Amino acid sequence: MICFSSPAILLKRTDFGDYDLIVSFFSLNRGRISVIAKNAKKSRKRFSGLLEPFTKLDIVCRKSRNNGMPVLQEASMNSSYAGIRGALIETAYASYWTELVHGWLEEFKTQPEIYALLDYSLEALDKRNVCPHAMSIIFQMRFLGLAGFAPHLSSCIGCALPIDNIRANTVVFDLAKGGIVCNGCSAGESRFQKPITKGTAKFLSWIQEYDTDAAMRLRFSGQSQAEAQYILEAFVPYHLGRVPKSLAFLKNLR
Ligand SMILES: [Zn+2]
Repeated sequence: MICFSSPAILLKRTDFGDYDLIVSFFSLNRGRISVIAKNAKKSRKRFSGLLEPFTKLDIVCRKSRNNGMPVLQEASMNSSYAGIRGALIETAYASYWTELVHGWLEEFKTQPEIYALLDYSLEALDKRNVCPHAMSIIFQMRFLGLAGFAPHLSSCIGCALPIDNIRANTVVFDLAKGGIVCNGCSAGESRFQKPITKGTAKFLSWIQEYDTDAAMRLRFSGQSQAEAQYILEAFVPYHLGRVPKSLAFLKNLR
């Protein structure tokens, strides 16, 4: 009867009738999945406090009798992320990242590298040994790369002039084209174009090239952090097709 078991991070849960919950997980072995947790709403004992947002669990699922959604059979705590839950800004970032994973990734597509990235980022946030704003820049950059949407940062998308050969100190980040364009190639003012210093563009390309540990050791200047945050939090909703609710909340909080 057992269909599969996997470590899994809880992305979202929704009420289903009077008794059940539909729970969306990002699982290591099956990618993003939705399962039904029977009686989870009615009986608190059934999954006693386990089914909380961004909790890391070990789950066991079985096939449903009518071949519908898999049924959550067992769940045990792997990490509750109490350190995140105890802090508002950390909670806001964790909610944003999990909403991003939920909204962006296809169901049933195994993506171990993205799983490892989310796991790593939540762990770091939980231990509170990272700046959450910097961690979010790294998370978004690496997520975009792994999801196949890495911004193009090494040269102008219009004329292919390498960034080091662009004379001006600022370039334009074009959300629609997905990377930087030199001032000569940027066609006037557009709400889909944001100015960015060359320094910040290079900084973001280092995050792309390095592994996550090395990226964590980079030191952001205040200006680079502010610009990178602004660009990424515009680029992500542009390609997602909507502004994640948790991002709007995060922006209000900051
Ligand atoms: Zn150009």
